[in-house]
This record gives sequence, C-alpha cells and structure tokens, in this order.
Amino acid sequence: MRIGVYPGSFDPVTNGHLDIIERAAKLFDKLIVAVLINSSKSPLFSVEKRLEFLKESCKNIKNVEIASFDGLLTEFMKKKNANTIIKGLRAVSDFEYEFQMALMNRKLNPEIETVFMMTSNKYSYLSSSLIKEVARFGGCVKGLIPEIVEKELYRANKQ
Ligand code: ADP
Repeated sequence: MRIGVYPGSFDPVTNGHLDIIERAAKLFDKLIVAVLINSSKSPLFSVEKRLEFLKESCKNIKNVEIASFDGLLTEFMKKKNANTIIKGLRAVSDFEYEFQMALMNRKLNPEIETVFMMTSNKYSYLSSSLIKEVARFGGCVKGLIPEIVEKELYRANKQ
C-alpha cells in the first residue's frame, strides 16, 4: 500500500492546502495530512481546532486521514508505514527551505522520498500567515479558505 504524508502547520488550512490534498490523494492509496505540533510557534488555532477544520474540509475524500505529530517527521512516518512526503511549492522562496528539509529527511531515512507538487496558480499567493494578517484587519478572505474556517477566523482574531 502506498501511503503519503502531507505535513504542515495548517494554522489554518487554506484552499491552497486543499488543492494539494485533493491532487495528492489521487497519487496514493492513503494520504495522511499531518498537523505539526510545534511548541516554539504560537499558533492562532489549537491543534484540536486545526484537526477539526481539516477533517471537515476533507470529509468527502475517502482515502485521506487527518493526524497530528510532534518530533521528527521521519519517526512519525515509520510508525504510519509511510514512505513519501508531499510538499507544496508556491514560489522560489519556498524552495531553499524545502530543499534543505528534503535532504535532511533523506539523511535521517534514505527510504523516504520527498515529492513536490506545484501550487495551482489561483492559490499561489496564499499562505496561512497572510490569511491571518488580512483577517485580523478585517479584510475579506472569502473563497480562499474553507467556510468553516472563515466563520471562526474573525472570531479568533477578536479575542
Ligand atoms: P503556510 O503557513 O506557509 O501556509 P504550512 O506549514 O501550513 O504553511 O504548509 C504546509 C505545506 O503546504 C507546505 O509544503 C507549503 O509549501 C504548502 N502550501 C501552503 N500553501 C500552499 C499553496 N497555496 N499552494 C501550494 N502549496 C501550499
């Protein structure tokens, strides 16, 4: 069975992420979307909320599983029996860091392959941090994030 893992912060999930998830799900028997529990960042949404948003947004894609992990991605993948990491690429600016991570992950486990998927051009400018910034100042982000996220985003920003 081919199992892919799409890791990220997903704080919150955007339509750019969902586009990658939908396309990546077609390449694997199972795609695990893995929310990184990163204690050094201070996220807007709790891990539970981020998981809930992803579960709701992906409920119609049969072979997608939503999970969270902390520590090394390669360890998480070993536990899940997965051997491919999926990453999305938006612009050249993503490349340097992703290149470094891909090589480090290969060093940690040579069996693991990282596969990069190009963003769809209509979402290429999207990032979770930009969405949060625009929403914080009351800008409209309709059509860029799932509806369930939209509802809670403005509320979270007011707190
Ligand atoms: P961000 O906070 O930058 O949106 P995440 O850590 O949540 O990032 O992203 C997880 C993965 O999704 C990364 O591989 C990132 O490059 C990718 N990604 C994020 N937004 C997009 C997009 N609009 N199109 C394609 N890939 C994306």
